Amino acid sequence: MESKNNSVAIIGCGINGIGTALAFSEKGYQVKIFEKGRAFAETSSKSSKLLHGGLRYLENGHFSLVQEALKERASWVQQVPNFTNIERFYLPIYKGRSRNRFVLYAGVKLYEILAGKHSLGKSKFHSAKDTLLNNPNLKKQDLLGSVSYVDVQMDDNQIALWLLEKAKSQGVEIREGVEVTSLDINGNVVLNDDEHYSFDYVVNATGPWAKKLLTANRIESNFDMSLVKGSHLIVSRLTKNPMVLQNNDDGRIIFMLPSAEGSIIGTTEIPQKSTDSIICSEEETNYLLDIVNSYIAEPINHDAIIGSYSGVRPLVFNSYDSSVSKISRDSATEQVGSLINIFGGKWTSGLSLGQKVVNSIKKDQI
Ligand SMILES: Cc1cc2nc3c(=O)[nH]c(=O)nc-3n(C[C@H](O)[C@H](O)[C@H](O)COP(=O)(O)OP(=O)(O)OC[C@H]3O[C@@H](n4cnc5c(N)ncnc54)[C@H](O)[C@@H]3O)c2cc1C
Repeated sequence: MESKNNSVAIIGCGINGIGTALAFSEKGYQVKIFEKGRAFAETSSKSSKLLHGGLRYLENGHFSLVQEALKERASWVQQVPNFTNIERFYLPIYKGRSRNRFVLYAGVKLYEILAGKHSLGKSKFHSAKDTLLNNPNLKKQDLLGSVSYVDVQMDDNQIALWLLEKAKSQGVEIREGVEVTSLDINGNVVLNDDEHYSFDYVVNATGPWAKKLLTANRIESNFDMSLVKGSHLIVSRLTKNPMVLQNNDDGRIIFMLPSAEGSIIGTTEIPQKSTDSIICSEEETNYLLDIVNSYIAEPINHDAIIGSYSGVRPLVFNSYDSSVSKISRDSATEQVGSLINIFGGKWTSGLSLGQKVVNSIKKDQI
């Protein structure tokens, strides 16, 4: 068994695991990451690839969450300018089938205002003519115009490589293909090859698997999570600018985003059990195509689909919210003895979440 020496184990190497590893190593801790598969191969590579405040969280009144994330967005743009694209996102408005245009404009304006000095550009209202000029693939009929706001698309793969290199250069040891099979609240972990370790702190950064790991080891927690699958299609059809499309039937919005291959269309929101396979179903594919086809002049069929990917959002459970869309994406962390659990979060907030974890450590609990 290895002995403690100002040491930390991080279980899971997604954005929250690496963010916490960087923050601990900057404070002088010896950090080991145990990742059961490959680094950044799960939820952190299955997102919409946006560094954003989350426009739709405004509708649920999560203003401070949006404001904080917009500050974090600015920090990413500053740190990795080569792997981030500042883009204008358009919300097309059609007669009789979307939220009121003044409500939409108020929403995008509030988004700009909440960014404060970190704003990346003005939110705007556009005529139908201007909307078509910027989004020539849209249907002309019944188009009233659009509103737009500025946000950030990222190259998550390149940022992940940059973060992994940074962590290694700070002395973080990253072990891939190593599963933590057992742990306790006293800093002990056991790996799948039966290696035993003891650390000053252990961080459970296993994303959607956080609760499962605790339950398997009979560790009580104040938090619960619900899991929601989100799928994206990759299609060959180009979109000139990112678009935010509203679905009349369920009131949700989805993105159509320019990508290297053409466009990414997503996402869905399907309640998920931890045992369900994480793949894009036929139903989700049709749902996404139907929404896009209700907006664009030349419909896309299945032949245009190059690929798809799905991830599971770990949402911090709030028993007072009945609708999945209304649950806050904010994260929760807790310390139980030497064990620190991370629940939820988002890509955009991964680095600052790591800082928060390290700054909130209570040494008297161990
Ligand atoms: C569809 C979708 C779209 C999203 N879009 C955005 C977006 O545009 N912008 C944004 O900011 N956020 C977005 N998010 C949220 C964001 O992607 C997630 O919050 C974030 O990636 C979660 O990171 P994580 O490190 O907690 O989890 P993960 O990336 O899943 O990492 C957890 C890791 O733990 C490992 N692991 C699990 N159990 C063990 C074990 N026992 N031993 C060792 N390793 C283990 C797993 O293999 C995994 O690699 C989106 C999420 C989804 C699902």
